[in-house]
Amino acid sequence: MSATPTACCGTCRFEGVGLDFTGRVHGDELSPTVHEHGGRHNAQFIADQGGLDDQWLFAGIVDGRNVWINHLEHSLDALEGLRRETGQLVVSTSSSLLHTPIDLDAEPADGDADLDDELRHWMAFAVQKVGEVATLAKGVGEGREAIADELEANERALDDRRDSHRTRNDEVRTRIEGLDEEHDRRSSPFEERKPAQRGQLDLPALFPSTTIGSFPQTDEIRDARKHLREGKIDWLAYKKEMEADIERVIRFQEEIGLDVLVHGEPERNDMVQYFGEQMEGYVFTENAWVQSYGSRCVRPPIIFGDVLRPSQMTVDWITYAQSLTERPVKGMLTGPVTMLEWSYVRDDQPRSETCRQLALAIRDEVADLEAAGVKIIQVDEPAMREGLPLRRDRWDEYLSWAIHSFRLSTAGVKDETMIQTHMCYSDFGDIMDHIQAMDADVLLIEAARSRMELLHDWERTGYANDIGPGVYDIHSPRVPPTEEMADLLRAAARVLRPEQLWVNPDCGLKTRAWPETDASLRNMVEAAKQLREELVPAS
Ligand code: GLN
Ligand code: ZN
Repeated sequence: MSATPTACCGTCRFEGVGLDFTGRVHGDELSPTVHEHGGRHNAQFIADQGGLDDQWLFAGIVDGRNVWINHLEHSLDALEGLRRETGQLVVSTSSSLLHTPIDLDAEPADGDADLDDELRHWMAFAVQKVGEVATLAKGVGEGREAIADELEANERALDDRRDSHRTRNDEVRTRIEGLDEEHDRRSSPFEERKPAQRGQLDLPALFPSTTIGSFPQTDEIRDARKHLREGKIDWLAYKKEMEADIERVIRFQEEIGLDVLVHGEPERNDMVQYFGEQMEGYVFTENAWVQSYGSRCVRPPIIFGDVLRPSQMTVDWITYAQSLTERPVKGMLTGPVTMLEWSYVRDDQPRSETCRQLALAIRDEVADLEAAGVKIIQVDEPAMREGLPLRRDRWDEYLSWAIHSFRLSTAGVKDETMIQTHMCYSDFGDIMDHIQAMDADVLLIEAARSRMELLHDWERTGYANDIGPGVYDIHSPRVPPTEEMADLLRAAARVLRPEQLWVNPDCGLKTRAWPETDASLRNMVEAAKQLREELVPAS
């Protein structure tokens, strides 16, 4: 079979086209392998585009970005619909398999493994997905009888998953049904909350300084975690080491004069894994590594069932840190959208639903921190922008549930409790109004890396609540001079009101070493002091 190159616009010629039929491109919440009508929808789509004459169609029907088995029956329906539109059909994955772990069979199968047999039956990694592609191709080419055994096994696995009590938790579902509009709204507007918060915190009126949360993850910290895992030290010894690090971090921050302190997050292996490990509905793998960026690899946790937080996750660490100092120590949590974006998410219910469950789990932790006397709680959402659908006309839909989830996780607190959030890794200029709608009391946002490009956006849109545009890039060991950071603050103060500005780095310091952390933060605190002297409060 040979295809004749066809012109599309007169300039370019193509012999085939590969399309993602899993619905992700459209921002659909459920993939067509879950949708009953996927098949018809896709065929209609091709017909609407004018059809394919003699081009090859690479039909990306096996999701290349998740870890779940394909619904073979639905995929076959879809593929048969597509075959009516083109004579030259190739069964394919929806994307490269870069985003899925290599082989499910590489996971230990013994009784202790986290990933037990039941869960395993619901999953497919890259090797298994290639198998699904081959099965589907055979099914389309030779008829369904040729893959009868595979179809039956697939049907059984899907039924088991649907009926398993492990994917559903009635307590969580009842709670979600009981939510009303009040639940994602703070009881007073920001203008009333701010004086209430400042009244109980002894902060400078202008340019209070803080950090994003993590301090250097030293070799000692990593070794302690490794030794705990290997059973060389017990939990108490581990806890002692972490507490020693927390004390060091607290003393350092006091010494250099930071205003709002952090405990430094030494106990966290990763900002998502740490929380996922303490929630129900999550499972972890041993070998399922995927590339994050560059040479950095991660093992994303897997959300397979309803998410629930059985008990407190952070309160002991934060109250320990607070017991060491008179200055306020922030509670530090990962937000629901980031928990979702950096995990493999179950595909048997809309992502928005899973995100809401995560939001409730975080909300409970926020409530416990507040009850323990923590006055400032930071809920990080660095991945807020990552979930945006490719199609712009679907942005609002995503943003509305993403913002709702963040608000649900934070809105349960009193006026006096200050909610901070942190965002990084992206340009946020075009979603600034949505970020405003998150209604955090303080937004700590990466800005120095792009030399404060965001200032142009704020010039246009303004920003109502308090805000800390990052004054130094933490991605290199370079120590920024005081004057450089003071200049960035001056630039920010020309566009935003000086009263609303905070002083902080672009992101957490866990990948940095102590020498540059020490020097950079001293310079940063100095820059804040300079600006306080230059600009007198308006009131
Ligand atoms: N609080 C986290 C930290 O400081 C935030 C990390 C992030 O934004 N990725 O490490
Ligand atoms: Zn960050």
